[in-house]
Amino acid sequence: VSGALSMGSGCPVGYMNDTPALLRAKFAEALQRVRFVSSLDDDVLIDRAEAKRLLRCDDATIADLVAQGLRIDQRTEAFSYCDIMNVGLYSGTARSVPELAERFITRFSAEPPLTWTQRRRWRLAVEGRCTRAGGCAGGQWALAATPAQAYRRDPSDIGSRVDTFRTTFEAETSGYQMEVQAAPIRRLHSECLERFRSGAWQYQYLPLGLRDDPVAADRLGVMNCFSVAGWLSERLRMLGIETRVRHGLLLAFMGMEHAWVDARDADGVFKPLDPVIAVLAARSAVPASSFASFTCGSRFNRVLASRANTGQIVTHACDGRKQTVTLLVYARPADRRSG
Ligand SMILES: [Zn+2]
Repeated sequence: VSGALSMGSGCPVGYMNDTPALLRAKFAEALQRVRFVSSLDDDVLIDRAEAKRLLRCDDATIADLVAQGLRIDQRTEAFSYCDIMNVGLYSGTARSVPELAERFITRFSAEPPLTWTQRRRWRLAVEGRCTRAGGCAGGQWALAATPAQAYRRDPSDIGSRVDTFRTTFEAETSGYQMEVQAAPIRRLHSECLERFRSGAWQYQYLPLGLRDDPVAADRLGVMNCFSVAGWLSERLRMLGIETRVRHGLLLAFMGMEHAWVDARDADGVFKPLDPVIAVLAARSAVPASSFASFTCGSRFNRVLASRANTGQIVTHACDGRKQTVTLLVYARPADRRSG
């Protein structure tokens, strides 16, 4: 578990022989596909080296993308973090960081359904990076929302660099299988799947402001797990159904922050709705046929719920104000050797 990602055996074979020209063509195509919806000022800006690391590409590719319209902040020559992640996600190169992350977080869906709910132990690291333009000025870091089932935090691991917060946990997760009875809840879960299928919604990385504004994200046709959870919650409440939006971490070799919504079913029990993970699994893995319906009412063991359900999991202030933090999550099973 390290900030410097070791891709070694994680890389799918078969795409590694793409020529530089073919890779550039794939990235250029992705540029046409991504919906650029918010202003550069609304997003975290990253430098060229970080963009190259996330896309795992060379300078020529970046230059090519800029020539074809990739947005760049002229003054600082910086890129939008979400633009870069989205171009990678839709590049089809099978090697960019966002593609690998999606593959890692969804591959359990291809395993036998019994394994989705087993009790599991994890060793995980959460790393937050300050995104202040011009570099971190040094300041306070806090873990705002300790994951509920996490324990044995290792305080010696905190704060290796001034701009970075890093902490490790062991955690235990488990799941359960339940079915939603209320037809309106089932219908809304299906409607989310259908909106992605039809292209009305495109899954994208979203800047924090848009991520937390489901009405705007819906109007723009770009959604992620946070905006879908907010959208579902709003629609369910309009039907008089009680909801709780949940935040947490998706556990995988390259995990990520995650959100979903719990809805109170006709039997009075709160059950999780997580259609986004079904959408991602359908395109990045070969999920078991029951997986999509599993995400309507059941809980899988790859998610670590956070106690607090607002704001960022890692918070940081420097230069006299709260800064946006980019989060990296790395998790490995502590109970067996692979997975
Ligand atoms: Zn800072």
